[in-house]
Amino acid sequence: MQNFDVVIVGAGAAGLFCAGVAGQRGLKVLLLDHSEQVAEKIRISGGGRANFTNRELDPHAPHKHFISQNPNFCRSALSRYTPADFVALVQRHGIGFHEKHKGQLFCDHSANDLIQMLLRECAAGGVERWQPCGVKALRVDGAGLYDIDTDRGRVQTRSVVVATGGLSIPKIGATDFGYRIARQFDLRLVETRPGLVPLTFDGDAWAPFVELAGLSLPVLIETGAKKTRMAFAEDLLFTHRGLSGPAVLQISSYWAPGSPVRLNLAPEHELNAALLRAKASSRKLIANELSTLVPSRLADSWVQQDTDWQRPIGDATDKALARLAERLSRWEISPTGSEGYRKAEVTLGGVDTRELSSQTMESKQPGLYFIGEVVDVTGWLGGYNFQWAWASAHACAQALPLAGT
Ligand SMILES: Cc1cc2nc3c(=O)[nH]c(=O)nc-3n(C[C@H](O)[C@H](O)[C@H](O)COP(=O)(O)OP(=O)(O)OC[C@H]3O[C@@H](n4cnc5c(N)ncnc54)[C@H](O)[C@@H]3O)c2cc1C
Repeated sequence: MQNFDVVIVGAGAAGLFCAGVAGQRGLKVLLLDHSEQVAEKIRISGGGRANFTNRELDPHAPHKHFISQNPNFCRSALSRYTPADFVALVQRHGIGFHEKHKGQLFCDHSANDLIQMLLRECAAGGVERWQPCGVKALRVDGAGLYDIDTDRGRVQTRSVVVATGGLSIPKIGATDFGYRIARQFDLRLVETRPGLVPLTFDGDAWAPFVELAGLSLPVLIETGAKKTRMAFAEDLLFTHRGLSGPAVLQISSYWAPGSPVRLNLAPEHELNAALLRAKASSRKLIANELSTLVPSRLADSWVQQDTDWQRPIGDATDKALARLAERLSRWEISPTGSEGYRKAEVTLGGVDTRELSSQTMESKQPGLYFIGEVVDVTGWLGGYNFQWAWASAHACAQALPLAGT
């Protein structure tokens, strides 16, 4: 039986960072993960360059970029460990990075630079890492010590940190371990569902749009109404099965099954007025005039929906042009589902924040902590999920008790 001050389960973004900080505070840390590879999600994130934080994050208004039953829960951790703190760490390690779009920071070279940085931080803290190593059972004794039965033998510890992430991308190691541990200790869970995920449509209803697969264009997308209305101005991507791209990934986290999404496919134009202006002076086909306002592939395909739109613009009625403008700028379509956890970037829901301290991430079960994506805190696309992983890990690592305290 080996003894540690803390055992961290899950060597992903949150677990690695927590291990390094705790180790450097002087704790004897064991980090274990059932996967062969360390931090696979960091490796594949941001197209291989890891969008590791976002400069626009406002820790004092977390509801702007985070979804949770209690969005204020993450305020404390996010304001004590900010994007600027993580940027300073990246700079100390000499990793080049750049800002892309809307405050998103990416590695210049590779996401692997970030993984190596986190591993160096763990080494500096003397962290012991066991990989691959699963957990068979976890028990707590009368004195509050945890006895963990692992694939590499039994270990005893005063603190356990669950950093096993969500359910997305099971083929690279995602499991429901964190939720099972929460249930074992009677901690409440918020129902989980895939987030930041492509949306799919019924085969027949989608047939007219299949030929648009691969087309990308800027749109305005929205769902919900009144208080639940959410809108994003981002790029849309048509796929064979439905819609993807940043616009759809963002809206998917707010989309309620059964409800429609509305798209403006030409957000930069007042379409009806532009078509009427063209009608007054042009002898071209509607599709040709339309292709000065939206991508020509979209224009050519869209006019197929109505014979009134397949003629010279000068011959079209104002009503037909108004209908065309309306259909492009208020395209309402009801997804039948999503690509699910297989393709989702994150998992919405998770360990109920009412069970956790927002200061320390400790649960109502003393000595048991939850950090990162396993918690019911989900960020927008754009580096917000990693920043939550770093911030929750840091809050936890600072709070873990040292031996003898
Ligand atoms: C394709 C993709 C791209 C993404 N890009 C970005 C991005 O650019 N920016 C951003 O902010 N977010 C991005 N995300 C989301 C981000 O990767 C996650 O939110 C983040 O990794 C969560 O960190 P975590 O430590 O909580 O979980 P993870 O990083 O998922 O780590 C969990 C770890 O726990 C291990 N584990 C699971 N079950 C067990 C078990 N039973 N026993 C032992 N170990 C276990 C796993 O092997 C894994 O190593 C992306 C996600 C995906 C899928």
